[in-house]
Amino acid sequence: MYENKMSRFPTYLTPEEEDELRKIANAIVAPGKGILAADEPPGTMAQRFACIGVESTEENRRRYREMLFTTDAEIAENISGVILHHETMYQKTKDGVPFVKVLKDKNIIPGIKVDKGFAVLAGTDDETTTQGLDGLAERCAQYKKDGANFAKWRCALKIADHTPSHQALMENANVLARYASICQQNGLVPIVEPEVLYDGDHDLRTAQKVTEQVLAYQYKALSDHHVFLEGTLLKPNMVTSGQGCPQKSMTEQNARATVEAFSRTIPAAMPGVVFLSGGQSEEESTLNLNAINQCPGRKPWALSFSFGRALQASVIRVWKGEDKNIIEAQKAFLTRAKANGLASLGKYKGDAATSTEKESLFVAKNEY
Ligand code: 13P
Repeated sequence: MYENKMSRFPTYLTPEEEDELRKIANAIVAPGKGILAADEPPGTMAQRFACIGVESTEENRRRYREMLFTTDAEIAENISGVILHHETMYQKTKDGVPFVKVLKDKNIIPGIKVDKGFAVLAGTDDETTTQGLDGLAERCAQYKKDGANFAKWRCALKIADHTPSHQALMENANVLARYASICQQNGLVPIVEPEVLYDGDHDLRTAQKVTEQVLAYQYKALSDHHVFLEGTLLKPNMVTSGQGCPQKSMTEQNARATVEAFSRTIPAAMPGVVFLSGGQSEEESTLNLNAINQCPGRKPWALSFSFGRALQASVIRVWKGEDKNIIEAQKAFLTRAKANGLASLGKYKGDAATSTEKESLFVAKNEY
C-alpha cells in the first residue's frame, strides 16, 4: 500500500500507478475512438455464427478474429481498444503472430474479459450476480504481463415488476467495485459494466429511473472501495424503452433521458462512458450515440462505444466463414467503426447503413 505520510487516508496506488491508469483510460476514449467488444465466449459465438451456418470451433473463432484484427491499420482511427476472451488473448494469426502483437502494432490496446459469468441470487426473481473474484488478482497480474492494459466485467440488472431489488443493486455494485479495485492494483483499467437489460416491456421513464438507481449504487460502491475514478471507464446501457414496450421511444428522447440520468449520477472525474449496444440494431446504436453526443446538457465525460453486436453483425454476414470474403468483411467493419467514431463526436449523418444494419440484434438473456 502507498502511504502519503501527510494524510490520514492511505491510497492503494502510487502517483505513478495512477498516472499509468489515467493515461490508458484517456487513450481509450481519445476523440473519435471507441472499443470493439470481441470477447464473446464460445457458446455466444455459436449463436452469432448460427445465422451463417458456421460451427463455433476454436479454429473458426480464431479465423474470424484474425479477419477482424488484420483489418487495415486505418481501423485504429476509430478503434482504440479490443476486448478479448481468454482463448483469443493467446491465439495467433495463421502465420504465427500473436493477436496481442497484431493489435499493439496497430496502436490498439488489448483488453481482457475477466468475469466468469452469471450466478442466480437465491430468493430473488431470477436476478443475478457475476462470479470471478477468486484468483482474480493473479489472473490480472498475468494478463498485464501478457500485454493487456484494461479489463471488463459485466453485471446485468433486469427490469420487472419488483426488480432490480435492493439485494441485486447492492451485490452487483459491490462485486464490480471489488473487481475494479483488484484490476487497478494490477495495472489494468477496469471497465465497470452494470448493464440494465433491454429485455422487458418497460417505458423510457422507468428505464431512466432504474439506470439512475443502478449508477448511484455503483458510484457509492466505487467510492467505498477507494477506486481511482480517473483510471476507470463506465460501460452502461443507453436509456431506451424496453425491447417489448408497445410505445418505442425515439432517438432524441433516448438521448435526453441518457444524458439526464448520467448528469445526475456519474462523477465528472470519470473520463469516459463506452456504451454497450445491448441488442439494438447497428444503425440504431449509432444514431442513439450520435444523438447523445449532440444532446445539450452537462457532459463532462467522453461518450463513446464498446459495441459487440453493433460492430460485428454485418461483418459476420459478409464474411460467411469464407476466406474469399475477408476483404469485404473488413470493409464492413471499417464502415461501422467509422460511423461510430463520427457518432462519438456527434457528427454522424446517418449515411452508412444498409437495410441489414437496421435489423434488431436483440437476444433474450444475452450472455457474454
Ligand atoms: P453488445 O454491444 O453486443 O451489447 O455487447 C457489448 C458487451 O461487451 C457486453 O458485455
